[in-house]
Amino acid sequence: MTNVSEKSKLTTYGNIINGQSVQAQDGAVSNSIDPSTAEVWATIPSSKKEDAEWVVQAARAAFDDWANLPARTRGDYLRKIGDMIPEYAAELLELETRNNGWVLDEYQYLAEVLKQVWYDAAGAASLVGAQGRTVQMGTGDFGFTSRKPYGVVVGILPWNAPLFTFTIKAAYALAAGNTVIIKPSESAAVGSLRYGELISHILPPGVLNVISGAGREIGDYLVSHKEVNKVSLTGSKATAERITKATAHSPKSLIFELGGKSPNIVFEDADIDQAVHGLINGIFTPNSGQICVAGSRMLIQRSIYDEVIGRLKELMTDNEFVKHGDTLDTNNTMGPIANEAQYQSVCGFIDEASKEGYEVVFGGKYGGEAVLPGQPEFADGYWVQPTLVKVADNSSKLAHEEIFGPVAVAIPFDTEDEAIQIANDTNFGLAAGVWTQNLSLAHRMIDKLQAGNVWVNTYARVGADLPFSGVKESGYGTDSVLDYTVEKACVINIR
Ligand code: NAP
Repeated sequence: MTNVSEKSKLTTYGNIINGQSVQAQDGAVSNSIDPSTAEVWATIPSSKKEDAEWVVQAARAAFDDWANLPARTRGDYLRKIGDMIPEYAAELLELETRNNGWVLDEYQYLAEVLKQVWYDAAGAASLVGAQGRTVQMGTGDFGFTSRKPYGVVVGILPWNAPLFTFTIKAAYALAAGNTVIIKPSESAAVGSLRYGELISHILPPGVLNVISGAGREIGDYLVSHKEVNKVSLTGSKATAERITKATAHSPKSLIFELGGKSPNIVFEDADIDQAVHGLINGIFTPNSGQICVAGSRMLIQRSIYDEVIGRLKELMTDNEFVKHGDTLDTNNTMGPIANEAQYQSVCGFIDEASKEGYEVVFGGKYGGEAVLPGQPEFADGYWVQPTLVKVADNSSKLAHEEIFGPVAVAIPFDTEDEAIQIANDTNFGLAAGVWTQNLSLAHRMIDKLQAGNVWVNTYARVGADLPFSGVKESGYGTDSVLDYTVEKACVINIR
């Protein structure tokens, strides 16, 4: 077992190809940085095209045997992976925390979710074989369909939630009979490399592979490879555009789970205390706004606007409620931004708020010295204060662009129609929250909000029991077992 408890220890991780942990063929490595201190804590392979070719060939070679297994047997393998999770959960969650700076406390629920997804996929494996249809085609022709795996699936992960996105992609793709290549973000690859190593001890060689390397280096090669049949990206719109272009000459099935600019809408009849905590959990604690469904636009009915803003400020400036610091200390409630590039981007939005003269309700500072004064070990870390900016309407850059950090805007509205108009005035369509005690109002909002996920009196509730996808520029497709199959049609002449 890899020991990462001592922060000073540098550990080397390998790609997982054909059941082996291997370094890049040219021996190149990249550093993994702890965002709370900006210190190097591990090295990962810096893979090149020859490594990408190697991993594709391994996944291709393993495909026929895996696809031809009885579905129940594939399910048995996946169940064993779920069984393995509790034993390694502490190690995996610690790696995840050091990878992306989310506080460890945030992950208390995650091991259970990962286990449940593997169990869900294990059950779904058997269902795939039973998903065919028979079709009445008139006399003389008998039609039916069956579900087939695509072949080799490449799952591309974002840095903000590697273990979760790894699991929903790999579990359902494997259940359907595909073999899988996972490419984590170079800035948060350690947890995925270790997770892949553990899984490779359970699955036949080549069925599940993990390759780390910069997207700009191996991304185009992997996704455009003719032996790759499906690509599932969780990431940004910019990367989705790159993948669309790269696959233009070798078209393949794509799943895009992209960004959001989600409205979190509070009506005057809401339980204010519940709503305030829902607004905070949607964007500030515990992940510093680094979730795709971040409720980054707080839409608050004007009659309660000042009260809600006041309650938010009270909590978010309370040092007992918002505790920055060592991400492995479960007493802390907020961590840093996951990497330097993202940190610079978030700081740019905060600068924009002051440049445009918007009222900053709380926060507005960044840098280790500002956020954690008197704690020199964090001075170089990527720390940003949770920041709320008052804006009069939805027209600003702050209200339209995905910030992906702990920076939200508060927008007042008067009527239900106005709330809908502002909420839908975005290119994204990933998620929305509604806080009200009025069931009819809630249903009207659910109906009219342009979002793949709507939560009422709760926020960011996702899990193996529900689909998760976006509309508009938030992408399309779902990491579900049926989305990892092709429905094949057959007609038999029975005249
Ligand atoms: P990103 O910059 O788009 O990167 C996502 C992944 O794509 C990384 O593994 C990246 O590798 C890889 N990549 C980059 N260029 C590529 C190329 N040309 N071909 C193939 N892969 C390439 O996104 P991110 O900054 O990691 O993550 C934040 C974004 O993800 C936000 O927009 C967020 O909303 C979104 N997200 C969406 C969901 C959802 O379910 N809808 C969930 C979580 C996050 P490298 O990093 O190694 O370059």
